[in-house]
Amino acid sequence: MPTLESPATHRPQGDTLFVAGGWRAAARSYERVDPSRPERATGTFAAATVADVDAAYAAAAAAAPAWAATPAPARAELLRRAAEGLGARSEEAARRLTADMGKAIGDARAEVRRGAAILRYFAGELEQPIGETYAGADPATALSTIEQPLGVACVITPWNFPVAIPLWKIAPAIGFGNAVVWKPAEAASGSAVLLTEVLAEAGLPAGVLNLLTGHGSELSAALTGDRRLAALTFTGSGAVGTRLRQAVADRNVKVQLELGGKNPAIVLADADLADAAVQVTRGAMLATGQRCTATSRVYVERAAADEFTRLLADQVERLVVGDPFDEETEVGPLASAEQAATVAEYFALARAEGARAIAGDLAPAAEGCFAVPTVVADVAADSRLAREEIFGPLLVLFVVDDLDAALRAANDTDFGLSSGIFTRDLGKAMRFVGETQSGLVYVNRETAGVEPHLPFGGVKGSSSLSREQGKAARQFFTTTKTVYMRSV
Ligand code: NAD
Repeated sequence: MPTLESPATHRPQGDTLFVAGGWRAAARSYERVDPSRPERATGTFAAATVADVDAAYAAAAAAAPAWAATPAPARAELLRRAAEGLGARSEEAARRLTADMGKAIGDARAEVRRGAAILRYFAGELEQPIGETYAGADPATALSTIEQPLGVACVITPWNFPVAIPLWKIAPAIGFGNAVVWKPAEAASGSAVLLTEVLAEAGLPAGVLNLLTGHGSELSAALTGDRRLAALTFTGSGAVGTRLRQAVADRNVKVQLELGGKNPAIVLADADLADAAVQVTRGAMLATGQRCTATSRVYVERAAADEFTRLLADQVERLVVGDPFDEETEVGPLASAEQAATVAEYFALARAEGARAIAGDLAPAAEGCFAVPTVVADVAADSRLAREEIFGPLLVLFVVDDLDAALRAANDTDFGLSSGIFTRDLGKAMRFVGETQSGLVYVNRETAGVEPHLPFGGVKGSSSLSREQGKAARQFFTTTKTVYMRSV
């Protein structure tokens, strides 16, 4: 059995590259600020260079064979220790997450708990069978399959779930025996460093996980062009995902892309309208609308339009917006000045197009990275407000005649991540489940919120159609060897 040494985890300030089991700095660095208090710096991070990417791939490729040969129970034990380590640092991790990108502290704590649950789930998955046996034509030949790791996986993650998304990729990647080169989003750098510390302290052998903080666009060619790359898993915007897929298209790299959404919710007249208003508000506004599964369009049946609109406005205006470190806060700032500027442009577009504010007032953002949760109506179906992912607390409401019209409008989009319906009519709910064009479907629930043991992903422009989490993660991070073994 190969022997593997655990790296030292001592980390000097600013040394945020973790390569071959050691922390180090880079020639250049970048600063991040707390989006709720932009005057407060939250850390200095190393901006990885192309040479650092090469070193990370070299370390991962060197570590991969011994890690693949490590018994699955030992890999599972490491994931369990990491879950404990994250649990022991949970409050620090939640506060770091909130300082990174402004998520309300209660939601940040829930995300950290979920991160530990993901680690535990994949530890359990490693106790499941790794292949199948078959009966064949020749009684002297045993037929079977074995799942084996792919080698080196590149993991590129966004900032909107700084703990959960990296872990739902990294836990199965390393759990199933691969080595990882990880490029997190700049606005999630602090959380990325903490997660890497937790995994290193759990005893991860040197080179199995390599963290490259830095700027994605500068590292793109190096990350995708490396010949040691076997699998690429990306969550982020459609534009970047498409470019990454093109960059590896001429090689046999396994690719998984989870991209944007423009998620619709349909509210039929027979629904529990008060409950629907609560759910739609949560779906659209929690995490400041920065969830890929956030509700972005709502289609309400005409007979219920007035009442639902009033209930929805009431719920949205009740949301507690403010300091994300305040225990009462439900909606914090947007994640960064750049994100706030993007959302402000959509507010300006809504004003320019004469959209009617049902909740919020469409005023320009008052200060810093904050935006007031807003619902608008009187928007044209072909407006960018109705077609583009906004990734902020801006929901567009349409009135429709019936379920047919709602389904047509809801499906008329380039995206297909998540969708929901509110109704008490089981037949209509079942029809919606069958005909809605999305990878995730919710009945009488907000369009966001997932559990780690179910597959996750979208259709159309929202995904490469592979799935993450649950048993789907095993399919992505392993390859199947088919064995014909004849005794002589
Ligand atoms: P982004 O595409 O800007 O960045 C994602 C990651 O890619 C970051 O780590 C970034 O540094 C890196 N990157 C950027 N340009 C790159 C390049 N040219 N080459 C290599 N890497 C590059 O996305 P974001 O702003 O961090 O996240 C928001 C987006 O993510 C939204 O569109 C949202 O819908 C999407 N998202 C999707 C899901 C899902 O599962 N479908 C989940 C969360 C977020």
